[in-house]
Amino acid sequence: MLIASPTGSNICGRCVDQAQQIVRDESNTQKSGYSVFASLDEIPKPSEIKSHLDTYVIGQEQAKRAVSVAVYNHYKRIMVQDDIDDIDLEKSNILLMGPTGTGKTLLARALASYLDVPFAIADATVLTEAGYVGEDVENILVRLLQSADYDVEATEAGIIYVDEIDKISRRSANASITRDVSGEGVQQALLKILEGTVAQVPPKGGRKHPEQPLVSVNTKNILFIVGGAFEGIDEIIARRRKKTLLGFSRFDEEESRLKGADLLQVVEPEDLLQYGLIPELIGRLPVVAALEELTREALRSILLEPRNALVKQYRKMFDLEGVELIFEDDALDAIIDQAQKYGTGARALRRSVEKVMLDIMFDIPSLSGLKRCTISKSVVTENSAPTLKY
Ligand code: ADP
Repeated sequence: MLIASPTGSNICGRCVDQAQQIVRDESNTQKSGYSVFASLDEIPKPSEIKSHLDTYVIGQEQAKRAVSVAVYNHYKRIMVQDDIDDIDLEKSNILLMGPTGTGKTLLARALASYLDVPFAIADATVLTEAGYVGEDVENILVRLLQSADYDVEATEAGIIYVDEIDKISRRSANASITRDVSGEGVQQALLKILEGTVAQVPPKGGRKHPEQPLVSVNTKNILFIVGGAFEGIDEIIARRRKKTLLGFSRFDEEESRLKGADLLQVVEPEDLLQYGLIPELIGRLPVVAALEELTREALRSILLEPRNALVKQYRKMFDLEGVELIFEDDALDAIIDQAQKYGTGARALRRSVEKVMLDIMFDIPSLSGLKRCTISKSVVTENSAPTLKY
């Protein structure tokens, strides 16, 4: 069969079949769609990375800056490592310290999505040394491999966020009998992949067994961001500073200025050592950034400003039903009050807002002709009905 084009040329059925086969083969060999940077110019500058982070992460200026620089250097190092042989550029893995719900995971996630590299999150507390009940540390790599659609090259340029690193410190007494009690073994195992190793991972995850096909993943260029709340480390820092600053009149003045979260900003490797991280691991985390407890203003901004802000999302959802949604100012205040009570940072905001919105979301789709829905303070605090206008 001949197929004619408007311009007068013709193509036969067999050619169409062949062309289709070529397209199909091509898309099969095509990788996951993640593109590793091809040249230095393609790597976004630290200020560009930071402006992107600004659209998702409220506050946390110091952490955003530190992370932006570290990430820029990281990808630059990957690009140039083959060209220079007299200097070893070290990997800039990042340690994020700060209370829960202040944006550590969010920061890592926003980074990976902006750079368009595969991303995986792991929880240090479920990791074990090989041989114990629990997850092998290498399973972290499996998750990254899966998020890269099994594209090994993309995996090797990915980002992994390891949460709750403080919970595997030597001093956190863990009563588990299935895991090595100290957590030190897990730190050792983690250290290996952080440093750079060629790991053999089972593509489907789970325990390795002899007949399984394994995929080699080189972790040399994978960027690790580890995070933790490090509760109590402020006391260790304060104690150290007391020792070193004692005798100087400056001490009182400085110390009264530095409290709680501020102390995290002056953390030193020796404090982390005291806290129970092994020295080798500390050495592999050259970039340390502290995140602050979120203030009321920050919580309010988080409700309203980021690209995925909760209020924006609900407004959009109502908008799709043709309804205008209004949160009154004191309703937002009440939501923030509730969230602060939970003490889980911004994470509690979602819980408060969702609690308020559940009944409303249930009813709205059945109310035809509704034009506007206003949430006032009493809707939040007393569970009263919102003001509806038809
Ligand atoms: P953690 O510090 O415990 O890793 P997350 O990053 O998981 O906290 O934060 C939980 C949720 O709270 C995020 O998904 C995000 O919606 C919100 N959040 C936390 N901190 C911020 C922040 N600084 N800016 C904007 N949203 C935030």
